[in-house]
Amino acid sequence: MKQVKATRYYRVDREHPAPDVIEAAARVIRGGGTVAFPTETVYGLGANGLDPEAVEKIFRAKGRPRGNPLILHVSSLDQARGLVAAWPPEAETLARLFLPGPLTLILPRAPVVPDVVTAGLPSVALRYPAHPVALALIEASGVPIAAPSANLSGHPSPTCAAHVRSDLDGRIDVILDGGPTEVGLESTILSLTGDRPVLLRPGGVTREQIEKALGVEVKLHEAVLTGRPRPENPEKGAGSEATAVAPCPGLFFKHYAPRARVIMVTGDPDRQAAKIGDYLNSHQDLRIGVLATEENAVSYRESTIPPAHLEILGSRRNPPEIASRFFGALRNCDDHEVDIILVETIPAAGIGLAVMNRLCRAAENRAI
Ligand code: AMP
Ligand code: MG
Repeated sequence: MKQVKATRYYRVDREHPAPDVIEAAARVIRGGGTVAFPTETVYGLGANGLDPEAVEKIFRAKGRPRGNPLILHVSSLDQARGLVAAWPPEAETLARLFLPGPLTLILPRAPVVPDVVTAGLPSVALRYPAHPVALALIEASGVPIAAPSANLSGHPSPTCAAHVRSDLDGRIDVILDGGPTEVGLESTILSLTGDRPVLLRPGGVTREQIEKALGVEVKLHEAVLTGRPRPENPEKGAGSEATAVAPCPGLFFKHYAPRARVIMVTGDPDRQAAKIGDYLNSHQDLRIGVLATEENAVSYRESTIPPAHLEILGSRRNPPEIASRFFGALRNCDDHEVDIILVETIPAAGIGLAVMNRLCRAAENRAI
């Protein structure tokens, strides 16, 4: 894909972003351009969410299928309420407890929201991020900002500005570098459009927290850990089987995949270490990367056949740390030009559910 423009790059202080830099970026948003900015989850690629032509530029820069709807980012609950046709009590309860924060709500859309944002769906995804740079940018722009993750479609999401540059330099107008993101995985997506809340994508606000807040069971969409049901032709976009099967088309697209082939490793931690040791032994002709928990890392480091590249995700006792390093670790393995990435699995509870969801997708369900 050809380079189209010179991307302006600004470093910003996370807590106190310089007003002149924020204003320069906001001017780009108001003028119909694209700005990559940090949030507490991952970096987003933003454009004026009320301007269909500006939103089109996001799809073009990322190579994103048109059938995959975007999330609108707001800087207040009042702004969110202006974008929906209904604001149910569940939304109010969750907003009071978790917003601003890594939780996206799907609600019936207001007419002001363009079709291109929602891929023609009658609902809209809304997020009120907890990041001073994101909030300052949205506020200064004076419009809701449509923003998917700031990576080429299908790649792992960017958790620092270097990832954004490597995917989108020359394809977007501005990059705001506010340092590494905290959560490291995209927001939780909860649909409030049906009789019961449905978790479409797990993230930083956990299913357990939402159930406690609402006092009801939160259904997991079946695609969360299986990646299924899969449409025949996921690239076809809006109106394809993807939108017909379920109200969360983006769940079916190829996602989070580095260049190397990802394989997840199942079993208890000792069994995982043994499987990885065997795999290294029996595939000495391949360059193998390993994403390991701290507890098991020593066994690979001291192995007679060590991996070509070892990434330590963090301790099993600290799943948020594992979540925050996951996407960067996949990208680092690509930088080390490995053929295969073996990834240790963790229990699918709390934020571990979000890690396992991204891992299943990156591995396209391949497991040993
Ligand atoms: P991304 O911007 O890549 O984090 O993905 C946003 C995801 O939000 C999409 O892939 C969809 O799964 C989901 N989404 C956005 N808008 C809607 C909507 N109106 N209804 C259901 N899911 C949505
Ligand atoms: Mg994305």
